[in-house]
Amino acid sequence: MSSGFDLTGKRAFVTGANTGIGQGIAVALAGAGATVACAGRSAMSETLEMITAAGGSGGSEHLADLSDKTAAVALYEAAARQDGPFDILVNNAGIIRRADAVDFSEADWDDVLDLNLKTAFFLSQAFGKAAMADDRHAAIVNIASVLSVQGGIRVASYTASKHGICGLTRLLACEWAARNVNVNAIAPGYIVSNNTEALRDDPDRSAAILGRIPAGRWGEASDIGGAAVFLASDAARYVHGAILPVDGGWLAR
Ligand code: NAP
Repeated sequence: MSSGFDLTGKRAFVTGANTGIGQGIAVALAGAGATVACAGRSAMSETLEMITAAGGSGGSEHLADLSDKTAAVALYEAAARQDGPFDILVNNAGIIRRADAVDFSEADWDDVLDLNLKTAFFLSQAFGKAAMADDRHAAIVNIASVLSVQGGIRVASYTASKHGICGLTRLLACEWAARNVNVNAIAPGYIVSNNTEALRDDPDRSAAILGRIPAGRWGEASDIGGAAVFLASDAARYVHGAILPVDGGWLAR
């Protein structure tokens, strides 16, 4: 009997797959049987090697600066022509800028919103349109944050973008659930990656964060993969508009 979590024969497009959470998700999807198109602005060689090492069925590299939504959609459409239509979209690429709200610059607002929210929406639009035109089952997994439901400090545009991605997840789920497209999000807690380097380098912030995590450790990128496999799989076919925390219990506190 095949597992509801098996992704054999599925094609996934994962943004920001060269490192961190995107890399962890790409490897997990490949390990579950998907062929993974790794998209971003940096070489994907390490991720493609990890996919092979995990016994995955292969992957491909697609490079562009995804902060420009037109370039991002063009990259997605070229990848779909090359690799075949995608069944899974993971909107993972994201940036963070830190400054006190009173000093926050327009550039730090626009740069974060453009990538974290605008590109994610227009990639979802291209993906959803193609899937619904073919009447294919498809799944979108957005990468939200605990700052989708909390305020945080010194990260105004990031918090706005992550609240926004939750709203979009719910809106797209409402519009597309009956069209065979699952739209859900994962809300990672504090994960070791480039995104959190500044926090981990600050002994006071680092200790305060660690002390509040019920699991007693920071998360690893690989901790996020299982949730992505689930939300991309047939096992989650009746899951729509969910925001799944993978946070060591942070939001339960
Ligand atoms: P990361 O290691 O900094 O990864 C960010 C990814 O986005 C990288 O692949 C990066 O590529 C890519 N990216 C950034 N700007 C890009 C651009 N203009 N064009 C194309 N790709 C671009 O951080 P991460 O923690 O894995 O972050 C992944 C996602 O998880 C983000 O959406 C983040 O907000 C979210 N998240 C992270 C945490 C955490 O604790 N780490 C918690 C909650 C949510 P480069 O390597 O080339 O820069």
